[in-house]
Amino acid sequence: MSEFREECGVFAVTGHREAAQLTYLGLYAQQHRGQESCGITVPKNSQEHVTEKGLGLVGDVFDSTKLQRLEGMKAIGHVRYSTTGQNSLMNAQPLSVQVSLGPVSVAHNGNLTNANELRRQLQSQGAILTGSNDTEVILHLLSRAQESSFVSGLKKALQQIRGAFSLVFLADNEIWGVRDPHGFRPLVIGKMEKAYFLASETCAFDLIGAELIREVQPGEIVRLTAQGIDSWVFAEARPSYCVFEHVYFSRPDSVVFGRSVYQSRKLFGEELARENNTEADLVIPVPDSGVAAALGFSQASGIPFDLGIIRNHYIGRTFIQPVQAVRDFAVKVKLNPQTSVFKGKKVILIDDSLVRGTTSRKIVQMVRMAGAEEVHLKIAAPPTTGPCYYGVDTPQAAELIASHKTQDQICEFLQADSLQYLSMEGLMRAVSATERDRFCAACFDGKYPTQ
Ligand code: SF4
Repeated sequence: MSEFREECGVFAVTGHREAAQLTYLGLYAQQHRGQESCGITVPKNSQEHVTEKGLGLVGDVFDSTKLQRLEGMKAIGHVRYSTTGQNSLMNAQPLSVQVSLGPVSVAHNGNLTNANELRRQLQSQGAILTGSNDTEVILHLLSRAQESSFVSGLKKALQQIRGAFSLVFLADNEIWGVRDPHGFRPLVIGKMEKAYFLASETCAFDLIGAELIREVQPGEIVRLTAQGIDSWVFAEARPSYCVFEHVYFSRPDSVVFGRSVYQSRKLFGEELARENNTEADLVIPVPDSGVAAALGFSQASGIPFDLGIIRNHYIGRTFIQPVQAVRDFAVKVKLNPQTSVFKGKKVILIDDSLVRGTTSRKIVQMVRMAGAEEVHLKIAAPPTTGPCYYGVDTPQAAELIASHKTQDQICEFLQADSLQYLSMEGLMRAVSATERDRFCAACFDGKYPTQ
């Protein structure tokens, strides 16, 4: 139950008669990466792009009539959680503009660290910025590049931006993918018959039956055509893959940065078990994100696994609160601890991360109310001490409980019998035995890979 919020998800296809429908499905599979808005863009002709977008979930925004309006063999799409900019239709993506070379549409996953500086610069030169997101800054830089080809203008624009950007473009009548030199966010290439795809996560390929070809490399531009994949390097790769993609953001059935997210999460649990010194009757996950780690913990420790907390999967984004206040209603409506499992038991609860601590405190209390004799909370990640500047919506540092309380103070706040975090060494061992320096873990260790 991480209190970090997902960022965004992108998808693109070329060479398929049902490009928009496949993009719809690709976005549907990546809905967990953003629920505020979504959109799909297709080329109407070489001079014009058509976009359908709206606020809300993919299944609510699109219907068959809208999809039928999006004809053609190419499409790009986006699901958005507003990391920067307010949640408004103006900021929903893809964004489309006309530049001297023709129409350009873009969808962005990430966050530019120098966007404010670039916005000020552009505005001082007379640029009109319509939304409050940093993606339109990229389009302005592209337009001003005034190069004779799209790829040379794109390179020029990319060399001015900093931070996290996995981008898909519809431009020059082709599909393009870009990943920043650090590769903070994932971006993968897939293939199905003669069609090529780009997606944030491989779970999108699984749904449509496409095969994973490879990742777009950090610092690489790719162009997908009927003939295959063309590639350019616009900057030297300095990998800093976001470790939180494995801790929480990505779907467990995705392969991210070349690794199964499910296997990473199980290994987080195994590493936790190796560092464990608590005796207990049961290991119980906080669903859903704690399940794989709890399984790994149980298998490594020999302490039996059980599903003591049942999650209601049918909750929309809003619900009518009861008139008479029900204590901890927002957590109770999602999670229900089973008295038959907890009664008289010493339990280890496993969660993916601990951010503010307020939700975990309520869960610990609910488990006690359900009859648990002892509640030991174990977190399948190190203490979260700093915010993210690379495309993840995080609370301010002051709201992160581990930024101002010791582990004992946090345990006291949570009213747990004990609290254990996964060590940094355990986390990094689990995501990569040999390439630890290729991951960003700045929200845990404060070592930000950029200024
Ligand atoms: Fe990921 Fe944390 Fe680094 Fe942000 S700071 S990119 S959430 S590991």
